[in-house]
Amino acid sequence: MTQYPSLHMIIDGEKVSGGDRRTFDVVNPVTGETLAELPLADAADLDRALDVAKKGFAIWRHSTPQERASVLQGAARLLLERADDLARIATMEEGKPFPEAKIELMMVVGWFNFAAGECSRLYGRELVRPVGQRSTVRWEPVGPVAAFAPWNFPLGNPGRKLGAAIAAGCSIILKSAEETPASALAILQALLDAGLPKEVGQAVFGVPDEVSRHLLGSPIIRKLSFTGSTVVGKHLAKLAADNMIRTTMELGGHGPVLVFDDVDVDTVLATAAPGKTRNAGQVCVSPTRFIVQEDVFERFRDGMAERLAATKVGDGLEDGVQMGPMANPRRPDAMERFVANAREKGAKVNTGGERIGNQGYFFQPTVLSEVPLDADVMNEEPFGPMALINPYRTEEDMIAEANRLPYGLAAYSWTNDVQRQRRLAAEIEAGMVGINSHMIGGADAPFGGVQWSGHGSEDGPEGVKACMVLKALHEG
Ligand code: NAD
Repeated sequence: MTQYPSLHMIIDGEKVSGGDRRTFDVVNPVTGETLAELPLADAADLDRALDVAKKGFAIWRHSTPQERASVLQGAARLLLERADDLARIATMEEGKPFPEAKIELMMVVGWFNFAAGECSRLYGRELVRPVGQRSTVRWEPVGPVAAFAPWNFPLGNPGRKLGAAIAAGCSIILKSAEETPASALAILQALLDAGLPKEVGQAVFGVPDEVSRHLLGSPIIRKLSFTGSTVVGKHLAKLAADNMIRTTMELGGHGPVLVFDDVDVDTVLATAAPGKTRNAGQVCVSPTRFIVQEDVFERFRDGMAERLAATKVGDGLEDGVQMGPMANPRRPDAMERFVANAREKGAKVNTGGERIGNQGYFFQPTVLSEVPLDADVMNEEPFGPMALINPYRTEEDMIAEANRLPYGLAAYSWTNDVQRQRRLAAEIEAGMVGINSHMIGGADAPFGGVQWSGHGSEDGPEGVKACMVLKALHEG
């Protein structure tokens, strides 16, 4: 049986812990009990990591594409060998069911292999210069990267950030969420075991605001990659601006799902309901605002309520569990606030709406319907197992509701009318749009949003290029 590991930071290849460092209790969200103590970085640790990252960049920027690809492919193989252990550790610290954690790990494997292939496709271009001058445009690694990854995909978020920086030829200091450190450490360890120079990849933990101010305040860092909430993203973008640090911001969403009356409701529910309970709704691209045409509204609402009520909720390490606890105590607290506020404004609670038990951070899969637009949950990302279902008459009104909020990450729509599909593809303001599909990602596809959902992309060739800069070279 997998044991939760003891925790450390990784600075210059060394496992750093102890001394008089502050610590953070990593907790199992099923029980609320402490799994292990995490050491937090002090200023000297961060300064050391910065110096090492500078050396790491000097080494890695001169690596060959083959060397970078070999590390990424080697790490992918090690992750496959270690898959069951790592998925169990991710479940222990984050709460998601073990099969979901395993899929997440496989996504990292897919991404590392894809990024390895990209290493030899970082083409520039040659310009046409008839007078004998030779002009080329080339891609170069941007420099040391600071990456802040959240807890909801404890393996996937660090994997995305490490893979992109390493494929591009950058060094990276990763600060993953303090709530889920063991998964992040395991991904970095696989890269180090596969031959990544110790100066190139490091992991620190700390008080988030202290770490981000320290790293972004240093002229050594040239790129920030952040995934998290819009409010923290805006704060970090301001810090990054002081040193003109380039940023990739993958922030919150409020996923609209447009369901038209020409579709088979059960077909939509077959993916929308498990999509909603995936990771207890703690997914930035989670389907959230169900914008349903009035003729199918009641069937859709009742079908969603029935399916969510039947979801098997429990310890993600137990067989057959479909939804685990929420990842930390802030989430069920937020769910309770959203439900109370929506009720007060006149929304109906069709199923759920309450905590489960008095141990751990469980919350019932919940359907709220006819939710007034001024309810908090219609404007703030719920980040929980909560489906909001409202009826609409016209396509125009449905598109207007989809575009009402300043978020634009993922949007979904269901219709069999081909002309309407084209209009929706053009009109919906989002970085990723699924038409008759809730599957919107992939190692080869850019993942990112617009407006308050952030800027830049992870994954795809774009994710690697996000860690690079252009140089135009003109030779006489
Ligand atoms: P939060 O907004 O404080 O933190 C979100 C993430 O940012 C965490 O991983 C945290 O460690 C990190 N963070 C916070 N302050 C930071 C700082 N100054 N510097 C660097 N990193 C910092 O709150 P939370 O309770 O963890 O999450 C709440 C909300 O965040 C959710 O409701 C959701 O909207 C959003 N969120 C989004 C994603 C995503 O995938 N886009 C992931 C996790 C959380």
